[in-house]
Amino acid sequence: MQIQSRESQNLRLPKYVNRITRSDYYFIHHSAGPITQTVQQIQNFHMGYERDWSDIAYSHLVNWKGQIFEGRGWGVVGGSTKGYNSRSHSVCYIGNTEIADITDEAKASILWLVDQHEAIYGNRNVQPHRLYSNTGTLCPGKGMFAWWKAGLHSPDSVGYVPRESWPLVNTDPTFTILGQGDDGIEVVKLQQMLKNLGYDTAVDGDFGPKTSQAVSAYQGELYRAGIYNGVVDGIWGPKSANSHNEAQKLSVEFNEDGGAKIEAAYKEYLGRSATSSELSSWVESLVVAKIDSVISFIKNSDEAKAKDTKLASFKIQNIYTDQLGRAATQKDVAYWLNKVQSSEYTWGGVRSFLATSDEAVNRNDKVVEFKIASIFLDILKRKASSDDIVYWMTKIKSGEYTWEDFTRFLKNSDEAKFFADTNPGPPPASQTPDDILTRLAEIQALIEKYDAAIDSAEQHLVELDQAFRELEAQVGARNG
Ligand SMILES: [Zn+2]
Repeated sequence: MQIQSRESQNLRLPKYVNRITRSDYYFIHHSAGPITQTVQQIQNFHMGYERDWSDIAYSHLVNWKGQIFEGRGWGVVGGSTKGYNSRSHSVCYIGNTEIADITDEAKASILWLVDQHEAIYGNRNVQPHRLYSNTGTLCPGKGMFAWWKAGLHSPDSVGYVPRESWPLVNTDPTFTILGQGDDGIEVVKLQQMLKNLGYDTAVDGDFGPKTSQAVSAYQGELYRAGIYNGVVDGIWGPKSANSHNEAQKLSVEFNEDGGAKIEAAYKEYLGRSATSSELSSWVESLVVAKIDSVISFIKNSDEAKAKDTKLASFKIQNIYTDQLGRAATQKDVAYWLNKVQSSEYTWGGVRSFLATSDEAVNRNDKVVEFKIASIFLDILKRKASSDDIVYWMTKIKSGEYTWEDFTRFLKNSDEAKFFADTNPGPPPASQTPDDILTRLAEIQALIEKYDAAIDSAEQHLVELDQAFRELEAQVGARNG
């Protein structure tokens, strides 16, 4: 087999070249286009206004006939696998293996390139693009991915025998990609590991939907911890495995002072100590091995929220008692919880809203009114008139008069002085409501008595008037 050089294909010169001397991965891609596409066309697309890259993205390309074309070539930074370009090489199959399988001729040529990669860079770490991308790409397509997953077997029809015995696709010989439908000892190991981490899965060597869910859950945990940046798809691929390894490494650092930090987070967010089993499960589980993630997990836990809600409800009750002198109803609490938890209102905001509410003002009015009436009764020995109340409420609520000012004013009033002059004796020790009622009854009786007297006086006047008219009539008759 041989590689057709750039020159022989009349490829354009690259805009620039960066060289590399190491290569830890060999990525496989498909072009996702028709098998008739030429390398030149792909280069023009990659270097054109749409992509504007320095060169065609791949190290090499292979067509359906098994012809091998030089792209960037060996020893040049690639452009095909973001995040890995400076430590990898790549090959692209010209075609779309989502819709038509890769040909045996192409497989043989790719295996030959893998041999070259190993000869130069010392590894056969062949990886499919999709497991190293965050974009959700299907590359290298269904057909090529299945070939890779099955172990990149050499096609019998072509008879190419790779340098090493297959499958040897990963520098870590213990690693196998696992998904639904797989079984065997690798699945048992994975299931046992997931179970140790607290995920719900049987350890039966059968990768079923439940194992897939457990993998997804763990991928999600690792993702939230900022360790895993792959797709949460329930497939145990190299990214998941690497993230798992990183999580375990981090857990070692975490063990050093993690306990104290977790303890502090329990105190702060849950208002209690962590139980020893909680502490050891955090320290041992490695599920979320970054201390920041553990703390934010505790902070956002249902328990923390419930505690928050409890605290907040309690606070709302306090403000109601303070400002309105009554307990908040369930509806009140729910309303203000929502406002506070959504940050629409601060606590100060709630307090001042209630303080200036009609209810608070009315409640204050009653207090003020009652106080004014009491002072009137105390100093002037009479009920305050409604005019008195309105007048003094205005003065006091506007701050023009303090209660002391008001009291002094009443004591110095002419009315009070008159009362003092005409009643030099000591004021009655105290007046009970009964005393006041008795006094009112006496006054009522007096009023009735005087009313009766006035009535009879009026009657008397009418009679006198009548007598006078008769007298006048008599005098007139006599004179006439
Ligand atoms: Zn690709």
